Amino acid sequence: MAKMKYIILLGDGMADYPLPELGDRTPLMVARTPNMDAVASRGTFGFLRTASEGFPPGSDIMNMNILGYDPALYYTGRAPIEAAGMSIEMSADDVAFRCNLVSLRNDEGRVYMEDYSAGHIGLEEGDAIISFIDEYLGKDDISFHPGKSYRHIMLWTNGPTGLDLTPPHDILERDVEPYMPKNDFLLELMEKSRPLLQDHPVNRLRRASGKLTADSIWFWGEGKKPKLPPFREKWGIEGVIVTAVDLLKGIGVLADLETPDIPGATGYIDTNYENKVNAAIEGLHRADFAFVHVEAPDECGHNADVDAKIRAIEDFDSRVVGNVLKEIEEFEMWRLLVLPDHPTPIEVRTHVTDPVPFAMLTSDDVDRPERDTSYAESARPEEHPNYFDSCRKLHEIFFSKE
Ligand SMILES: [Zn+2]
Repeated sequence: MAKMKYIILLGDGMADYPLPELGDRTPLMVARTPNMDAVASRGTFGFLRTASEGFPPGSDIMNMNILGYDPALYYTGRAPIEAAGMSIEMSADDVAFRCNLVSLRNDEGRVYMEDYSAGHIGLEEGDAIISFIDEYLGKDDISFHPGKSYRHIMLWTNGPTGLDLTPPHDILERDVEPYMPKNDFLLELMEKSRPLLQDHPVNRLRRASGKLTADSIWFWGEGKKPKLPPFREKWGIEGVIVTAVDLLKGIGVLADLETPDIPGATGYIDTNYENKVNAAIEGLHRADFAFVHVEAPDECGHNADVDAKIRAIEDFDSRVVGNVLKEIEEFEMWRLLVLPDHPTPIEVRTHVTDPVPFAMLTSDDVDRPERDTSYAESARPEEHPNYFDSCRKLHEIFFSKE
């Protein structure tokens, strides 16, 4: 008997608020999305709350909820998830910290957060700096591990948790003083990094060409390694997460899903959508579940770039949803779900907890006539007949064994 195939296509941050420059419509309403509209109008369309009470609207929290891992039970912090996605081994005693390279600005005796990413410092530059930091500040129980660009990880064996550290992207242009760690040792590491980095060759070159410099390390997002039950135990199926982003890879690693490296996957609008779709379809031949994560719409929301966001949504629709709908025909029984993890509205440039639109199509419904439903946000999602106030209700229809 044919086995059910499950596929989730996630456009990170693609939901938005109406914008005056779009005639009070959202990017999803303006973008041409015939494939998502077909999924919505032939299948089940509704609104879903992906947030968790008491947790920030991070992609980690929202995607854990979508995959069925209640953050209240399993979330220990962002950094240990990223560490898993970067293949950094953690022992039970290790605490992982996200270690950003940031640009600071001195002004009349005060220090301001100029940039959370040291000007999106290059891969090799970031690598050189964090290796240098590890050489001078690393010791038996402290190690620095290179990630991509400005995103690195520090492990502290038997380190503290629950420190209330501040993500640097939340305090742009603010005086950093009130946001410095209350933990003396972390504070000392951050303060020691500044004179060390001042004349590092990478910074000298960047300064000479007018670029922002990596002036300090900055810790946040700490936690111990979370223990997620394997996806196969949770839902009785195995599969693959296709993503360019370490955070999503990390959830996959911790859930014991495959997380293949995708050639040309960048996490931005220039990503290789075709390779991602191919990896998902190949995954469905080996196993029964594929999750395709596309980061680009979220980045465009953070950058407040309306045109790029519309393009990212149209690319997601035609090159991911459209191609998957074609390829999936080779399987006999399938369920396909399209959704974002959270809105990243252009207006606020960060994640919000508003409900997101979802659309689900199954192999049974694929030939149904289209209704007059398009895939978009609503001003009153809670009043929609298919409003789900938690992901649990979505799981009942998506992962059910009937
Ligand atoms: Zn997200």
